[in-house]
Amino acid sequence: MERQTGKANVHADLVSKAEVDLYEVLEITSDASREEIRKAYRKAALASHPDKVPEEEREEAEVRFKSVQEAYDILYDDDKRHLYDTHGMGAFNGSGEPGMGAAPDLDDLLAQMFGMGGMGGMGGMGGMGGMGGMGGMPGGMPGGQSRRSPNEEQKYEVRLEDLYKGRTVKFASTKNVICGLCNGKGGKEKAKAKKCSTCDGEGYKQILTQMGQFLTPKTVACSTCNGQGQFFSPKDKCKKCKGQKTTEARKMLEIYIPPGAREGDKIVLEGEADQIPDKEPGDIVFHIVEEEHATFRRAGADLTAEIDVTLAEALAGFSRVVIKHLDGRGIELKHPQKPGQVLSPGQVLKIAGEGMPIKRSDARGDLYLVVNIKFPDEKWQPSPAVLEKLKEMLPKPDPLITADTVDEVQYDPKGNLDNFGANDPQGGSAWEDEEDEGETAQCAAQ
Ligand SMILES: [Zn+2]
Ligand SMILES: [Zn+2]
Repeated sequence: MERQTGKANVHADLVSKAEVDLYEVLEITSDASREEIRKAYRKAALASHPDKVPEEEREEAEVRFKSVQEAYDILYDDDKRHLYDTHGMGAFNGSGEPGMGAAPDLDDLLAQMFGMGGMGGMGGMGGMGGMGGMGGMPGGMPGGQSRRSPNEEQKYEVRLEDLYKGRTVKFASTKNVICGLCNGKGGKEKAKAKKCSTCDGEGYKQILTQMGQFLTPKTVACSTCNGQGQFFSPKDKCKKCKGQKTTEARKMLEIYIPPGAREGDKIVLEGEADQIPDKEPGDIVFHIVEEEHATFRRAGADLTAEIDVTLAEALAGFSRVVIKHLDGRGIELKHPQKPGQVLSPGQVLKIAGEGMPIKRSDARGDLYLVVNIKFPDEKWQPSPAVLEKLKEMLPKPDPLITADTVDEVQYDPKGNLDNFGANDPQGGSAWEDEEDEGETAQCAAQ
């Protein structure tokens, strides 16, 4: 009895902390064997059983009892224990809180982590909401696996402009909510559900499915009773939801994309997934996908873009807006910064602090502008005098190349490097013919 009081105090300390040490709860070491865990649990559970303590200690004992049970539930299961060892309690309730008294929705979590589509109604189970469908698992009770309805995961494409500026998006969402008339019972107030004869009240049945070439048995939800194992006769069904237990409701939802958000970020709308009777609703989770942008490319917090500069500007300078930023601002450059500075093709101008915002800070990445020099095309037809003048003004060529014999040659001004390598003496052999010639030439050109 005295010892229990002591334990209740230990527990009070535990709940006040964000992180509970499950090994401490069971008073075992972190390398305890399963047998040791089982024994420790029995001992701790007996000692803290609310029925065995005086009235005034009962409440504390109850909390303690639940935490012992929770610790045992997690540590005695190898998979869950591993999860706890690697991720702590945060892995079990998403908040890092002890989650006392509430069994963690591990099945959801495991399903997400390991892609076990068979657990909840996650993958193509016809939205049945939790088929305990691990084939052949005894007592795989429909809906009995998880305390929460499945999360709704979806991709959300966002324009780079919106990732730059941040954005609040409102949208109407239709989701299933517990029927307000029958409170999720599905039947009239005094009606009793009938056992489903198709599945004998199990809610699921075995069918044979084609897996490649083989027929394999698979557990699926019973379609007669929607996996419930029972249903109301037509006259007993709830008038509002027609026995479905849920009805559709439209709701305005709002998501906030913070400036600097990036591909892979998740935006979670807690509890906004479909409601399922007797379960906490799961979350809607948006996975941000960055749309490709016509002008800018992003790497981390940095941005890059190409700017066009005429040859005259590259040589003689300019002062103008060279690009419109993602927030619509014009970015003006003054070139040259010093007389005589000439821009070269491919030259990179780095503008510090004009990249993407960095989340939860005032910092920004950098902007890398790559100079594309637009040389004049055939429409530019200056007089020989002008050209002569230009030659005079611009730097002279490197020292002349001298040779004993010099041949003047003809050339095609529109040569294409794709054809580079096409003059292969072995090009006509049968073996070579099997290769894609264009491909070979391209490789060689690079
Ligand atoms: Zn109803
Ligand atoms: Zn059935």
